[in-house]
Amino acid sequence: MAEFTMELNDEQKEVRDWLHGFAADVIRPAAAEWDEREETPWPVIQEAAKVGIYSLDFYAQQYFDPTGLGIPMAMEELFWGDAGIALSIVGTGLAAVGVLANGTEEQIGTWIPQMYGDANDVKVAAFCSSEPDAGSDVASMRTRAVYDEAKDEWVINGTKTWATNGGIANVHVVVAVVDPELGSKGHASFIIPPGTEGLSQGQKFKKHGIRASHTAEVILDNVRVPGSCLLGGKEKLDERLARAREKAKQGGERVKNAAMATFEASRPAVGAMAVGTARAAYEVALDYAKTREQFGRPIIDNQGVAFQLADMRTSIDAARLLVWRASWMAVNGKPFTAAEGSMSKLFASETAKKVTAQAIQILGGNGYTREYPVERMHRDAAIYTIFEGTSEIQRLVIARTLSGTPIR
Ligand SMILES: Cc1cc2nc3c(=O)[nH]c(=O)nc-3n(C[C@H](O)[C@H](O)[C@H](O)COP(=O)(O)OP(=O)(O)OC[C@H]3O[C@@H](n4cnc5c(N)ncnc54)[C@H](O)[C@@H]3O)c2cc1C
Repeated sequence: MAEFTMELNDEQKEVRDWLHGFAADVIRPAAAEWDEREETPWPVIQEAAKVGIYSLDFYAQQYFDPTGLGIPMAMEELFWGDAGIALSIVGTGLAAVGVLANGTEEQIGTWIPQMYGDANDVKVAAFCSSEPDAGSDVASMRTRAVYDEAKDEWVINGTKTWATNGGIANVHVVVAVVDPELGSKGHASFIIPPGTEGLSQGQKFKKHGIRASHTAEVILDNVRVPGSCLLGGKEKLDERLARAREKAKQGGERVKNAAMATFEASRPAVGAMAVGTARAAYEVALDYAKTREQFGRPIIDNQGVAFQLADMRTSIDAARLLVWRASWMAVNGKPFTAAEGSMSKLFASETAKKVTAQAIQILGGNGYTREYPVERMHRDAAIYTIFEGTSEIQRLVIARTLSGTPIR
C-alpha cells in the first residue's frame, strides 16, 4: 500500500524556509513603497534573480516536484511577502508556461531565456489573452492572426487588455484567432520578439491592489512575426484545427467546455497565492489581538475576537488543503472529475478576501490605515476572485463538471 503522509520532506522544508527568508527580508520590507509608487519593483526582481528565485530553473524544479507541492509552497511564501511584488516576480512564469506547454524545443530554448534575462539585466514577459470584449468569454476574442504564405509570416492585429507586464515585457506571448469559426479552439499563441514593430503599450491601469505589478493594454497594429513564432509550429496547428473542425460538427458546446478545462491545472497556483495573502493578514491580526489592550485586557481575551481568528485560521488551512489536493492530482495525472482545480481557486480566493477584511476589523482604526499592512493585503486579495477566471466562472466550471450539463 502506498505510504500516506501530510508532512513536507526535508528538501521541501529547506526550500520553503529559504523562500520565506527572502519574502520576510526582501519582499515584505519593500511592499509599502512599491504599492505607493505603483511601479514594477525592478531592484527586487533583480535581487530575486541574483539568489535564483527569478529563473526558469527554479520554477521547473518546483514544477517537477513529484508531490505537486513545490509550486503551491513557493507561491504561498512569496505572496505571503507581498502580492504585488510577488506577481512581478512570478508574472513572467505565465508567459513561460505558455511557451513550455505549446512550444517546440527550439522555441523553448530560444525564447524563455529572453523572457528572464539575467541577474545583471533582468527582463520580464507578458501573457496576453484577455481583450476589452473577451474576458470570461474567451471564445469571443477578436485579435486576428493571418498567415502570409508568400513571406512565411503571421500578421497580427488587435487590442489586448489587462496584460501583466504588457508593454514593458521583452517577450510577449499573444493569443489570437486563426479560425473564427472554431471559437476558442480556433486560437493559437504567438511569440512577439523584443522590439517588434507595431506592438505598443496602451493604457497602464491604476489599480485597487497589487499595485507593484504592471497591468496594461497591448496594441497590435499590423504586427508581423516570422512563421517560427507560432507556438508549436504550423503543421501541428493545421492538424489541431482539422480535429477541432471535425469535433465542432458534432456539437459546438463541447468545443467551448474543453477550453475552460485547460485552465484547470493552473488554478491551484492562484489559490496558493491567495493562501499566502490570507495567512499574512491572519498573522498580523493574531499578533495585534494579543498585544492590543482595551478594557484592561488584550482584545483576544474577547470571544468575539478570538473566534474570528479561529475561523480565519480554519479557512486558511482548509484552502491550503484544497490547493495541495488539486496540485497533487495535477502532477500525478489524476483527472479533475469534480473540477478540483477550480474548487481550490474558488475557496482560497474567497477566503483571502474574507480573512483580510476580518484582519482590518481586528486592527480597528489601525487596520484602516496604511501604517499597517492589512489594508494593502485586503486590496490585494480582491484580485484573486477576478483573474485566471472569476469566482462565478469557477462555480460555472464546477457546476458543469458535476452535472454534465451546459449550465449558463
Ligand atoms: C490585475 C489584473 C491582471 C491580469 N493579468 C492578466 C494577464 O496577464 N493576461 C491576461 O490575458 N489577462 C489578465 N487579466 C484579465 C483577467 O483574467 C480578466 O479580468 C478576467 O478573466 C475577467 O474578465 P473581465 O474583466 O472581462 O470580466 P467579465 O468577463 O466582463 O465579467 C464581469 C462580471 O460578470 C461575471 N460573469 C461573466 N460571465 C458570467 C457567467 N457566464 N456567469 C456568471 N457570471 C458571469 C464575472 O464573474 C464578473 O463578476 C488580468 C486582470 C487583472 C484585473
